[in-house]
Amino acid sequence: MHARPFIDSLDFASNGQQISGVVLVAELSRLADILSDTAGELSYTIHGALDKHSVPKLILSLDGGCHLTCQRCLQSMDYQIQVSTSVMLRDQATLDLLDEAEVEEEYESILADAHLDVLNLLEDEIILSLPFAPKHDVGVCKAAKEVKHQSDDSHPFAALAKLKI
Ligand SMILES: [Zn+2]
Repeated sequence: MHARPFIDSLDFASNGQQISGVVLVAELSRLADILSDTAGELSYTIHGALDKHSVPKLILSLDGGCHLTCQRCLQSMDYQIQVSTSVMLRDQATLDLLDEAEVEEEYESILADAHLDVLNLLEDEIILSLPFAPKHDVGVCKAAKEVKHQSDDSHPFAALAKLKI
């Protein structure tokens, strides 16, 4: 098992550094709790940069697969995680100001931590990106097929069709 990565976030952003790696879904315990099982892995890349107002930011990109629970049939379904987002790094005073003013920003702001837990940040962003009520496509979902079948039977001509056989 490789060491859990941490970055000095402000330094990382100011110097335009980059980190990338692969993480197992099983290592992300809060995420794993939401999923139907802990199978799957994700590859990630984080770039540090300054935005046009010189605010330090982290540009995240994540790609991988996991299994969600379909909310129609409660069976496992494949889900492709693809996240491309940025987070702005702010000090606590600025975070408080933004919070009080209820400023709507394009990207989320987080505390500029000198010991930022990379996997924890990735996990937050993945959880935010997951659909609220995931469902299989109708053609694939067992529950959806059963519903369709029942409605076919209730059709007046369905009885006639059976008589012909
Ligand atoms: Zn389903």
